[in-house]
Amino acid sequence: MQRITIAKGDGIGPEIMDATLLILNAAGANLAYDEIEVGEKVYLSGNTAGIAPESWDVIRKNKVFLKAPITTPQGGGYKSLNVTTRKFLGLYANVRPCKSFDPYVRTKHPHMDVVIVRENEEDLYAGIEHQQTDEVVQCLKLISKAGCAKIVRYAFEYARQQGRKKVTCFTKDNIMKQTDGLFHQVFNEIAVEYPEIENEHWIVDIGAAKLADTPEAFDVIVMPNLYGDILSDVAAQIAGSVGLAGSSNIGEECSMFEAIHGSAPRRAGQNMANPSGLLQGAILMLLHLGKADVAEKIQNAWLTTLEDGIHTYDIFKEGTSKEKVGTHEFALAVIERLGKQPKQLKPIVYGENKPMQLPSYKRSSPAPKAQIGVDIFVHWNGSNPNELAAAIQKDVTLFPLKMITNRGIKVWPDGFKETYCTDHWRCRFQVSDGSSIGANEVIQLLKQFQTASLEVIKTENLYTFNGKPAFSLGQGQ
Ligand code: NAD
Repeated sequence: MQRITIAKGDGIGPEIMDATLLILNAAGANLAYDEIEVGEKVYLSGNTAGIAPESWDVIRKNKVFLKAPITTPQGGGYKSLNVTTRKFLGLYANVRPCKSFDPYVRTKHPHMDVVIVRENEEDLYAGIEHQQTDEVVQCLKLISKAGCAKIVRYAFEYARQQGRKKVTCFTKDNIMKQTDGLFHQVFNEIAVEYPEIENEHWIVDIGAAKLADTPEAFDVIVMPNLYGDILSDVAAQIAGSVGLAGSSNIGEECSMFEAIHGSAPRRAGQNMANPSGLLQGAILMLLHLGKADVAEKIQNAWLTTLEDGIHTYDIFKEGTSKEKVGTHEFALAVIERLGKQPKQLKPIVYGENKPMQLPSYKRSSPAPKAQIGVDIFVHWNGSNPNELAAAIQKDVTLFPLKMITNRGIKVWPDGFKETYCTDHWRCRFQVSDGSSIGANEVIQLLKQFQTASLEVIKTENLYTFNGKPAFSLGQGQ
C-alpha cells in the first residue's frame, strides 16, 4: 500500500479533501494517508512558514503530498507555503492540464486540450532584488543549464508517457539571448532525443496570443517560470476550468498535487464547493505513481457525472445541468459511475503508464573560461553621458572605456540626446587584444573610480566560454 501525506488546508479544503479521498478509496487507489496540518491555524500560531518543522519529516518520508488549498492570512510577514514547499523540496516542474469540457463547462474553445509545463524554481522567482540608486531597482533573472534540462526533459517524458504528439517551447530569446537563449538551446538539444514527438518554438508574446486565440494548435507547452505562471492561468481560464483544474509540482525526490483554486473561505462549511480541482490533482498523483488504471476509472466516472448533468453550484446551468448537488453528493455521484464511460465527452485512455524514470542531471565538464572585461555600474546624478565619460577618462586609465549604457541603451560614445537617462549607468571596459584580465585589474579599476569620486554600485565580469563572448552587447553597440 502506498503511503502519502495529505493536508486538508483551510476554507473549503477539508470538504473537498474528504470528497476526493472518498472517491480515491472507492476506486481502489490503495493508498494510506498521513495527515499534517498546514495553513491559517499554523500561521496564526506564530509560525510564519505555515507548516511545523515535524510536518516536513512526514512529507519527506512519504515523498508524495496531496494538499488542499490554504488561506494565507492578511498582512505582511507570512511566507507563501507553496513557494516554500517548491523551493525546499526542489519541485522543479509545475504541470497543469487545461482541458475544455464543452458543453458542460462554458468555454469559447470547445476542443482545447493543452498541458502547461512550467519551470518552477528559478527565473525571476529567485527573489534576488536590490535597489541600487534612487531611481533604479533590479531583479536578477537566473536561468541554469540544470534547470532548463530538467524541465525540458520532464516535458518530453510527460508527452511520451501520456501519448501526446507535440511539445512547444515559449521563450523571449530574441531579446534575452543569454537567459531565454539557454532555455531554447537546451530545448533544441533535448528535443532530438524524442524523434517521435514533434517540437517547435514560439516567441512567447505571439505564442501567448496564439494560445489565447487558437489553443487547439498546442499540445504540451514548456516555458520558464514567469511566462508559465501567467500563461497557465490564462490557459485554465480560457478552458473554462479554473475551478476544475489540478496541478502537480514534481521534484527528483518529492512531489505535491493540488487544485489550482484557493480556499474560497466564503463557501466554507456549507457542502457547496466543487471538489473537481483537487480530484484532478489526485488523478495527476495517481498517474505519477503509475496507477493509470485507477486514474482512468476515476476520470471517466467524473466525465460521466459531468455529462449526466450532476453539477455543483459553480458550474450549474439551467438547460445543460440536471441536478444541483453539494460536495459530498457530487463525490457519491462519481463513485456511482466508477466503471462507466462518458458518451458525449471523449473517454480518457491513459494506457499502461509506468512511473516516469527521469535521469538525474549530470553537470558537464567546465568549459575554458576567460575574463576579457568588466561592466562597472555607477550611481551618478548627472544627465549628460559625455560629462560622465570625461570624468571617468580623467582618472580611470587602466583600460580604455569602451561604452556607457543607461538601462541597456548605449549613450556614449555617439549617444542620442533624445535617450532618457536615469541615475544608473553601466561603464564597459573590455580588452580587445586577445588577452584576459583578473581580479587584480578589477580592483585597480575600482580604486581609480574611487579616485574619480564616482560611486560604484556593482560590477559584472565579462567572460568568454570556449572563446565565445558570453554577455550581451549594449543596445546600439
Ligand atoms: P479562490 O480560488 O479561493 O476563489 C475565487 C472564486 O472561485 C470565489 O468566488 C470562490 O467562491 C470560487 N471557488 C474557488 N474554488 C471553488 C470550488 N472548489 N468550488 C466552488 N467555487 C469555488 O481565490 P481567492 O478568493 O482569491 O483566495 C482565497 C484564499 O485562497 C486566499 O487566502 C488565497 O491566498 C488562497 N489561495 C490559496 C491557494 C493554494 O493554497 N494553492 C491558491 C490560490 C489562493
